[in-house]
Amino acid sequence: MSLIVQKFGGSSVANIERIENVARKAMASRQAGHDVVIVVSAMKGETDRLTELAHGAAQGHGPRPRELDLLLSTGETVTIALVTMVLERMGAPARCYTGAQVQILTDSAFSKARIQDIDAEVIREDLGAGRIVVVAGFQGVDENGSITTLGRGGSDTTAVALAAALGADECQIYTDVDGVYTTDPRVVPTARRLDRITFEEMLELASLGSKVLQIRAVEFAGKYQVPLRVLSSFEEGPGTLITMEGDNMPQGSMEEPLIAGIAFNRDEAKLTMIGVPDTPGIAAQILGPIAEANIEVDMIVQNISNDGLTDFTFTVNKSEYDRALEILRHQAETLGAREVFGDTGIVKLSLVGVGMRSHAGVASLMFDSLAAEGINIQMISTSEIKISVVVAEKYLELGTRALHRAFDLDDRSGKTVSVEGETAN
Ligand code: ASP
Ligand code: MG
Repeated sequence: MSLIVQKFGGSSVANIERIENVARKAMASRQAGHDVVIVVSAMKGETDRLTELAHGAAQGHGPRPRELDLLLSTGETVTIALVTMVLERMGAPARCYTGAQVQILTDSAFSKARIQDIDAEVIREDLGAGRIVVVAGFQGVDENGSITTLGRGGSDTTAVALAAALGADECQIYTDVDGVYTTDPRVVPTARRLDRITFEEMLELASLGSKVLQIRAVEFAGKYQVPLRVLSSFEEGPGTLITMEGDNMPQGSMEEPLIAGIAFNRDEAKLTMIGVPDTPGIAAQILGPIAEANIEVDMIVQNISNDGLTDFTFTVNKSEYDRALEILRHQAETLGAREVFGDTGIVKLSLVGVGMRSHAGVASLMFDSLAAEGINIQMISTSEIKISVVVAEKYLELGTRALHRAFDLDDRSGKTVSVEGETAN
C-alpha cells in the first residue's frame, strides 16, 4: 500500500458538483488500496475576491499583512469543510484540518511565509483509522499563533511539503490541464503533453514563465525528491511525471529528447546605456543603484570595448521599467555615458532541456530557425540547460512556433488541446 497526496486547485473545487468529482477521485484511490491525503485551494476566484474586499476595507492604507493573511486563508478553510462534508455524504470517512491544526509551522513573513516544519502525526493517526485526510493549502501558522499564507499558488507547496513530511510515494497535482506541455498550447496548438520531465527542467520552465506549478513547489519537490505528477481533474490520463533525471525511463526507450520545452515571458523590458567608459567597476556602478532600489535584473549583456567605450544592456520586469530608466538616466550623467534608451516591446523565448548538456548545435539550430523567419535576436543568454533570446514582442507566436517545429516538438496525432484556466504550459 502506498501513500498519495492529491492537490486540487481552485477550478477543480469551483462548485459542489466539482467537489463531488474530487471526492470520487480520492475514493477511487482509496479503493485501490492507497492512503490518501487531499490538499485543496480556495474555490476559483475566491482569493481574488477576498483580496479586493481587503483593499476596499483598507482604502489606500494597505491592509495590514497579518490581517490580510488571516482573511485570505479563509478561502481554503471553506473548501476543506465542504470537501469533507461531501466525502462523508458519499460514504467515505474523512477529516479536515487547517494549516494551523496540522501544525504547518512557518516563519512570520506574511503573504510569502516559508514552511519550517510540519507535524504529520495527527494525519498518520487518521490514515491508520482508514480516513481520507483533507488539508487546507496555502496556509500555515507562525510561532506566535498568527495565521500565515505562502504566496499565490501556495497550495502546490503545501501539497509537496506534506508529501515530503509524510514520505508519500507520489504527490499528484490535479489542475485544469492534463499535464505539462512542450509550450503553451494557446500559442502553439500542436504543443504536446510530456510524459515526464526532470525537476531541473520544470524549475527552469517555471521560472521562465510556465505557470503550471508554483516554482517553490518544484524546488521543494526536487530537494526532497518527491515524485510529482501533474494531471487533469476533468479527464482521465497519465499526466506528466516530474522526477529525477534518468528515473523511470522505460528500458530500450527512445533517446531522451534534446529539448523538453519552450517558455516565453512578455513581462520583461530592456534598458541600454551607450558609450560608457570601459573601466573596471563600471558594471557595478550601473547596476548598484538598480539593486539598491530593489529592482531585479534578469539578463545582462556588455559589449566589447571600442575606443575605450562600451554598451551595456539589461532586462528588468516591466513593472519596474520606469523606475529603472530614471535611475539609469541619472547614472548616465554621472558616468558621462553617451545615451540611454529602453524598450518594453520585447519577449524572451527560452529553450530548456537537460539534453543540451551532451549535445552541441542547439544554439545554432535555434538561431537558424529564428533567422529563417526573419526574426532579429536582440540579446542571448545561456546556462547549462537553457538558451534564452530576446526578440521583438510581435514575434512571440511566430518565434515559438518556429522553434517548436525545428526541435521536433510538434504533436503529430492531430489532437488539439482545449484550455479552460490560466495554468496551461
Ligand atoms: N488560493 C491561493 C491562490 O489563489 C492559493 C492556491 O490556489 O494555490 O493563489
Ligand atoms: Mg494553482
